[in-house]
Amino acid sequence: MQFENLKSDWMNEDHVMFQDAATKYLETEWKPRAEGWRKDGIMERTVWNEAGEMGLLCASVPEEYGGAGGDFGHEAVLSLIQNHHNMASWGQSIHSGIVAHYILNCGTEEQKKRWLPKMASGEMVGALAMTEPSTGSDVQGIKTKAVKDGNVYRLNGQKTFITCGQHADIILVACKTNPEEGSKGVSLIAVETEGAEGFTRGRNLDKVGLKAADTSELFFDNVSVPPENILGGEENQGFYQMMGQLPQERLLIACGAVGAMEGAVRKTIEYVKERKAFGKSILDFQNTKFKLAECKTNTVVARTFLDSCIEAHLKGELSVETAAMVKYWTTDMQGKVLDECVQLHGGYGFMMEYDVAEMWTDARVQRIYGGTNEIMKDLISRKL
Ligand SMILES: Cc1cc2nc3c(=O)[nH]c(=O)nc-3n(C[C@H](O)[C@H](O)[C@H](O)COP(=O)(O)OP(=O)(O)OC[C@H]3O[C@@H](n4cnc5c(N)ncnc54)[C@H](O)[C@@H]3O)c2cc1C
Repeated sequence: MQFENLKSDWMNEDHVMFQDAATKYLETEWKPRAEGWRKDGIMERTVWNEAGEMGLLCASVPEEYGGAGGDFGHEAVLSLIQNHHNMASWGQSIHSGIVAHYILNCGTEEQKKRWLPKMASGEMVGALAMTEPSTGSDVQGIKTKAVKDGNVYRLNGQKTFITCGQHADIILVACKTNPEEGSKGVSLIAVETEGAEGFTRGRNLDKVGLKAADTSELFFDNVSVPPENILGGEENQGFYQMMGQLPQERLLIACGAVGAMEGAVRKTIEYVKERKAFGKSILDFQNTKFKLAECKTNTVVARTFLDSCIEAHLKGELSVETAAMVKYWTTDMQGKVLDECVQLHGGYGFMMEYDVAEMWTDARVQRIYGGTNEIMKDLISRKL
């Protein structure tokens, strides 16, 4: 990988074109609106339709289901670029890289045809609801239940911290269809929110970072869901489906971490060249040079590891523990690098009008969601 031009060996011509188009679009069309979204605590719903029109959604979904027919490299590119340009709040990786892939890889043919084209156009926004107020890491402990009632399931429970919770039109809800069976009794049920009686959205939560993300509470009170909305059409497959998809989710989080590091280091280099103290630029102090040398090295090492994981995933060879390693290590490093970038900006680094300030606040949650970094270490340690 070249730090200067952000091109990796796994990137083909199409990935590069996608990267250039997405960068231009986010910088010119969205960046000017980003401060408003941060203040409102939510992006406009129309961003999803705009992104759909631009071909940014479901880029790795086959064309027959309305996607752009690309591969995981396209999802990786978008996540890297989005975070490089300080737009971490946009939940597109969950929508395209996770929810659409659950449907693509685990759904029935009818489910793929029904939901994926609408997700690719932005008509439907996707969310994945696993976490509950009383359980996050321990997914087996979920209490949300779907009970057969005649021709339908009745869904009851509560979810929290759900990305895209206010905008979601289709929510894959992790629930127990067979509570006696622990992890073997978990299913993923798709709730189509429009007109879903008993479904309510709770608070759009006030967070430390990701200020424009509509991370929310969701409530299900006897929501009627037809059996054809069980992902894959068969009960009790949820845990296996989740285990199959989690490495990709973790890899996308790592893409976000590396994209943010690259963007922040670049912005910090520009800043310290301009800013003066004691008659010289901040970059002229040996401490600044050494700190930035460390930051750049850590970023390039992170990208190199990430690139090898992306290559492995493109070949279908990314293991659970390697995905855990790249998620844990890059997000830990993101925290360290971003903290240094803030320090080198002095007081301006603490002002939200500077990208590094917002990127620093956004970095914190990366070690928590998608499986905490402690859970990642637990997964790695199982194969020691
Ligand atoms: C901004 C944001 C967005 C999110 N988006 C989503 C989403 O879209 N969908 C969704 O379902 N969830 C989402 N989450 C939830 C997120 O995945 C959980 O917060 C996370 O998995 C941790 O669960 P918890 O908060 O219940 O913490 P807990 O599980 O209660 O953990 C508390 C602490 O205990 C540690 N711990 C727990 N178990 C172990 C163990 N076995 N060994 C060592 N340490 C352990 C944890 O590492 C952590 O430090 C989001 C969270 C945030 C903050």
